Amino acid sequence: MNNQTENKLIFSPSLFFKHATCPHWIWHDLYSDEKNKAEEPELVSKVREQGVVHEDEYVKGLEHETVAEEDLDEAFGHTLKLMRSGTELIYQGVIQYEDGGVTYRGRPDLLERKGGKSEFGGYYYSPVDIKSSKDIKKEQKYQLVLYGLILEKLQGRYPDEVSIINKEHKRYDLLQDEGDITKTKLLMDVILSIMKGGKPPLRLSSSCKNSPWFDMCVSEAEEKDDIALIYKLDARSHIKLREVGINTIHDMAKANIDDLPKIPYVSSEKLDKVKLQAQSLIDKEVKWFGDLDIPIAPLKIYFDIEGDPLLQTEYLFGLWVVGDPDKKYAKGNNVVFDDKEKKYFIYFLAKKSEDEAIMWQEFLDWLKILPDNYIVYHYADYERSRTISMAGKYGTSPAFEMFHTKLFDLMKTVQSSVIFPLYFYSIKDIAKFLDFKWRHKKAGGGQSIFWYETWLETGDKDILQDIVDYNEDDVRATEFLHQWLINKK
Ligand code: SF4
Repeated sequence: MNNQTENKLIFSPSLFFKHATCPHWIWHDLYSDEKNKAEEPELVSKVREQGVVHEDEYVKGLEHETVAEEDLDEAFGHTLKLMRSGTELIYQGVIQYEDGGVTYRGRPDLLERKGGKSEFGGYYYSPVDIKSSKDIKKEQKYQLVLYGLILEKLQGRYPDEVSIINKEHKRYDLLQDEGDITKTKLLMDVILSIMKGGKPPLRLSSSCKNSPWFDMCVSEAEEKDDIALIYKLDARSHIKLREVGINTIHDMAKANIDDLPKIPYVSSEKLDKVKLQAQSLIDKEVKWFGDLDIPIAPLKIYFDIEGDPLLQTEYLFGLWVVGDPDKKYAKGNNVVFDDKEKKYFIYFLAKKSEDEAIMWQEFLDWLKILPDNYIVYHYADYERSRTISMAGKYGTSPAFEMFHTKLFDLMKTVQSSVIFPLYFYSIKDIAKFLDFKWRHKKAGGGQSIFWYETWLETGDKDILQDIVDYNEDDVRATEFLHQWLINKK
């Protein structure tokens, strides 16, 4: 048990975000040993820094009072003083109240004075949050309702509206809504029960890899041999499975699927696969269950896109070309040859977010020189869906329409024919299992986004090279997996 649970519980808006990611996160933060918590991924800290920069930029032009105290109780005292004296705009104020041993606390970016009766007199305060994203998330609404509830205690009225200012400085005023308030209160009860010790059942998903408690949750699940470790078994199916006595991977591996009652969110056909997945984990071996049907062509292209969801930009298209020993299609400045293997890596890069359209045009120009007979292998749906939306945004061409008909998703092949003794099936999980090595030890999609953001800020060419190398390794890994599948056929 850590300090917060020994003393008092603090309910802050970040709990809504943690709960949306995973209810366990809240529990671990309170009851697990900090020693087992990994460092925050660099990208997460970067996003936070950017949020702060964005807020600072927005308030720069506004007349306001800042609450700068680091000690939160002192900051609260200062905020209250400013509110009582009727300050027009308060930046970084702390608001809080205590109830039943829990301190409800928030730090809205701005508190705006509005006309209307309250315990302060003929005015009251309304919270405004400044976000570095373009879209407004559900959790941001909950956060504003929490501020509203705290303000209600302090000023004797819930504000008529709460507001969000997005990345483009567009303001959204959300009027007081009973539905939102009720939903937020219900969610607060759920979160409070976790804070008071009610540990939710284990569940693991691919997003867990971004969690600082990932290693801890996996080892806990391994210790229990828990069904939460079975890939693609929906967490909502766990409850019923546990009810019928299937709690462990071993239980699942020997289950008689025909005797089971209807399990929600999983068909009986899928349960056969789940059982095979459990057996694969126990035997630590690959299991095959379907025929491989992979198209072939003399020219094979392995394709991977890197995109930055923060900037909503695709910044790198990487293609690993196999079957062109004469380098007929190796045109442009960004080609890296592997003379030993007689293969090459060609890439299209947006060195600035604004260059995305130029990158797209260069890519379309390259597609024009390709022959009729080729296949483009990729892993997962991102490459297909992102290129469709870029064609919608920047324009298409006959060569692109053709390229699109050549796409072949190897992930679908994997999912319809082979089971790996793994908890997750990303290209990285699988290729690493098959012994493929990435050059950079930090390689990963999130890390690439962090590198790109850092490159934009610093112009450091070594970082840009890391991004390109990482993408090259990804497309090489896709070929590696393809070869492995063919050899096993
Ligand atoms: S690793 Fe996953 S299950 Fe565990 S706390 Fe993190 S997000 Fe939740």
